Amino acid sequence: MIGHRSPEFVELYQSIQPDLQKLLYTEDPVFISTSSAWGVMEGSLRNVVKKGVLNCMSGAFSDKWFDVSKRCGKHAKPLQKEWGVAIKPEDIRRELSTGEFDAITLIHNETSTGTMNPLEEIMEVLKEFPDVISIVDTVSSFTVLPIKKDELGVDVILTGSQKALALPPGMALLSVSERALDRAKELDDRGYYFDFHEFKKNHDKGMTPSTPVISHIYALKQQVAQINAEGLENRYQRHRHLNGIVHEWLNEKGLKLFAEEGYASVSLSCVANDGSLNIPAMNTYLRENCNAQMDQGYGKIKGKTFRINNMGNETEESIREYLGMLDRAIEATGNL
Ligand SMILES: *Cc1c(COP(=O)(O)O)cnc(C)c1O
Repeated sequence: MIGHRSPEFVELYQSIQPDLQKLLYTEDPVFISTSSAWGVMEGSLRNVVKKGVLNCMSGAFSDKWFDVSKRCGKHAKPLQKEWGVAIKPEDIRRELSTGEFDAITLIHNETSTGTMNPLEEIMEVLKEFPDVISIVDTVSSFTVLPIKKDELGVDVILTGSQKALALPPGMALLSVSERALDRAKELDDRGYYFDFHEFKKNHDKGMTPSTPVISHIYALKQQVAQINAEGLENRYQRHRHLNGIVHEWLNEKGLKLFAEEGYASVSLSCVANDGSLNIPAMNTYLRENCNAQMDQGYGKIKGKTFRINNMGNETEESIREYLGMLDRAIEATGNL
């Protein structure tokens, strides 16, 4: 292990920085947090919400962000859509027009429901509200498709290590705009561990505020090298292709996506169980016969849905192999 105040660490930290900025299409610094995504999701609220935050909600993760806002003592209001229904730009315009908010949280890809929100259109609306700081979670969409932070005008963008990045859990990335840093200066209860200005001050020296998870940073460097070797466009294309394979399989089976039409995720497919599948029995079959398992739905749609992932390091071979296992599980459990 190397010391986190050593020249070796500074070299490691600074060597990944240009690549991370490229992946986010940003010139803002990309901070590395030793926490899961929730650390920086909570931390962002503490850094930028002064007047009030509008929490866009349509699934387990986005709903929870509202709860976290209240636990931080913030004035928070839900923009609640039914699970699986996308957040629409006009909903946001209507809510922000009240003048009640100076921050907004949005989950780009709601992992629990397999719904992708129309980020570009939403960010267009946000340009009408220059005092509102945007916090966007890209935990399950980062590097799945291009997310051009600066062009879109996203203030705070964040992701975790274990989903779209396909690394072990325990690390998060966040990139913060100048506007968001200015806002943070106006708040004196930002705390320490996730304070944007602590991140920035240390970042300027090629370091993190406290001892970081150095082993994950090596893994990040390796994963970034692999992403570069594949090529970003190829990576985006692979995700679309694999997602398409899953959708085709669902069509053949007569199964439907849970997400509102037109807003299905490119990272994963959340399948609505029409009642013909015995999901727990299928899972038992997979565990006993295929050395595999399946998702059984998340939160309040557990049992009513299941999800098939195609993000990270999945390949056509791994996806087809897995769909083959699901075929066998369906056959063995006597459904459809
Ligand atoms: C998994 C997930 C999170 C939470 O990640 P943790 O690693 O548990 O902190 C947040 N947002 C989205 C969209 C997720 O999929």
